[in-house]
Amino acid sequence: MTKTEEIAALFNQNVMSTYCPGRALVKGSGTRVWDADGNVYLDFAAGIAVLNTGHSHPVVVEAIRAQAGKLMHVSNLYYTENQARLAHKLGEIIPGAKSFFCNSGAEANEGMVKLARLWGSEEGRYEVICMRNSFHGRTLATAAATGQDKVKKGFEPMPAGFVHADFNDLESVKALVNDKTVAVMLEAVQGEGGVVPADAEFIAGIRALCDEKNLLMLFDEVQCGMGRTGNWFGFQMFGVEPDAFTLAKALGSGFPIGAVVAGKKLNELFKPGHHASTFGGNPLACAAALATIKVIEDEELVIAAAEKGALIREGLEQFVEKYEHVTAVRGAGLMLGMVLDQPAKPLVDKMAEIGLLTLATAENVVRMLPPLNLKDNEIEEALEIMDDCLAEMHGVEQEEEA
Ligand SMILES: *Cc1c(COP(=O)(O)O)cnc(C)c1O
Repeated sequence: MTKTEEIAALFNQNVMSTYCPGRALVKGSGTRVWDADGNVYLDFAAGIAVLNTGHSHPVVVEAIRAQAGKLMHVSNLYYTENQARLAHKLGEIIPGAKSFFCNSGAEANEGMVKLARLWGSEEGRYEVICMRNSFHGRTLATAAATGQDKVKKGFEPMPAGFVHADFNDLESVKALVNDKTVAVMLEAVQGEGGVVPADAEFIAGIRALCDEKNLLMLFDEVQCGMGRTGNWFGFQMFGVEPDAFTLAKALGSGFPIGAVVAGKKLNELFKPGHHASTFGGNPLACAAALATIKVIEDEELVIAAAEKGALIREGLEQFVEKYEHVTAVRGAGLMLGMVLDQPAKPLVDKMAEIGLLTLATAENVVRMLPPLNLKDNEIEEALEIMDDCLAEMHGVEQEEEA
């Protein structure tokens, strides 16, 4: 029995089978991870857009170590400096914003929806217009907000108050507005939906619609935030200001933390008793997030995401030219999708075998979300693995390079 098989047996006996893991990973550094049997991989999945600073960045590790030895947790019945500093930092990125902290993306989205409902409550407005193919989480309300039937099936009845328009189709959004509508909620780049970026006109149209009808514009930045798209936040690609947005995944470099960040219209609305979280914003999580932001700033990783993203994209565009079954490349910064004319999973599995971890998304999309500080030679290496696996998939003999 290999070490991986040993871990898998223990795991499968005792953990509910909500996932179907293959490898057992035991160590990570930068863009590389190692499995229990000593195999090494380039990690272009990065914990699903969590490890924007790479695996175990020394600055993040040290911040967590130091804080763990000082004060890990106190309840939110006390002031803690790290939470204040983190909220101040997020407020600097978006002027005037105030934050609420929680522990995950779904929880952040629930909090944002509660905030929107509270805002609309006096007028009896509660309905949120969401997008088809969106993903907002797995709690009941965020599954209801999600625009994919597969996350709802078997769990009905879904909580009321969510309706769905077509992404990038402004008319379909307008058609859903009624006297119960309180907000429009969307991702700047749909991640789980297949790495589909919003159109600039669509986003501008939503902002104008929200202004005209007095609706809130809410962004789910859980996956595309924190520098991923080559901007601090995905909505900044379009030059719009949302009324609130959520963060989670990359905010703590792997330490669980989520946030609702709200602008002027909403930031004074929550009063004591309205909303809470035991762990939310505790000193340890906030130390991880502060260190994460420091690394992104000091190492200029927002610009890096744009530059490295362009490099990978160039390589992927060549595959569209070269390989019949690669039909398109889309995304923003280091949030990239290579679209196939067939299921992506066999290719993703094959690449993993050779040493490149990616994600199969929306059936036929190979999704890539590498650390923002990956190196040029790691990009070359990854593109070579992709090239080899695509050649094999197409039954082409690769010429050996001299
Ligand atoms: C992952 C994700 C979520 C859910 O985050 P969890 O931390 O898993 O609850 C919500 N929205 C988007 C866009 C995501 O990618």
